[in-house]
Amino acid sequence: MPAPDRYAVIGHPIAHSRSPQIHSLFAQQTHQHMMYTAIDVAPENLAACVREFFAAGGRGLNVTVPHKETVIALTGALSARAQIAGAANTIVKDADGHLIADNTDGAGLVRDLTHNLRVAVNARRVLLLGAGGAARGVLAPLLGLMPRELVIANRSVERALALANAFASLGPVSATGYAELDGACFELIVNATAASLHSQLPPLPPWVLGPTTICYDLVYANGDTRFTRWAREHGAAQAHMGLGMLVEQAAESFYLWRGVRADTAPVLSLLREHTPH
Ligand code: NAP
Repeated sequence: MPAPDRYAVIGHPIAHSRSPQIHSLFAQQTHQHMMYTAIDVAPENLAACVREFFAAGGRGLNVTVPHKETVIALTGALSARAQIAGAANTIVKDADGHLIADNTDGAGLVRDLTHNLRVAVNARRVLLLGAGGAARGVLAPLLGLMPRELVIANRSVERALALANAFASLGPVSATGYAELDGACFELIVNATAASLHSQLPPLPPWVLGPTTICYDLVYANGDTRFTRWAREHGAAQAHMGLGMLVEQAAESFYLWRGVRADTAPVLSLLREHTPH
């Protein structure tokens, strides 16, 4: 039997990553002869690591914090979605040996929202919290779902404004600080800040949320994040965490590499049972 095709996720730190488990489950389910590991790569070693991984026969990489923006300079080509996001989470080696950077994060969020959770975005008012790499990555796919309006709120208003200006041609997007969210209620609130990682909550006024509001935190935890707890306490219709997005972005990467769509539902159920505190 030939050696398995090699894939990996690179980041710093990386020990917490659930990607090896997710891709192993996809590979088992779809009978793919492959292995997937996690590699801790400090920023100063990124270029050498990517070069050596592919020179040694590696077939594809996932890329996570803090390399998502810097890695795109190391590839020969960018997909349209990586170009729009200004960041990549997947590297594909094509049949001619060229490296292509892609970004499946936004597709993962959209698939979790629309397919798994059956959340309607079309003609709805959407509030996107945060203006970092994750917000940038999900902005174009969210606008593609045709919301009535999409407001970006961020502590640093300049970052939110820069993002809204950069994406203005793709839909009705505007920017604000948290204090200026005056009386507006939204049907969908997506938390793309890193606040929940530190058990913090963006300084949201309570009126942004009503009894039909659906809240989604890109961060996930066992039980609730700070944000999903706040959402439940303030009477949100639903509050979801980003484990589904994680599994869906992985499935999209897996499809780019292997040409096979994994069934995400059993993988998501299994991960939900084993999400550490
Ligand atoms: P980042 O580039 O460092 O951006 C951080 C953002 O969070 C900024 O907008 C920052 O606001 C804001 N922020 C941080 N602490 C805050 C607080 N206490 N209150 C309010 N705002 C706060 O990080 P990122 O790459 O965008 O990632 C954001 C989160 O998304 C991470 O926690 C990551 O785990 C998660 N994520 C999840 C998935 C998934 O598959 N589920 C995929 C991608 C990312 P300022 O600009 O004002 O500092």
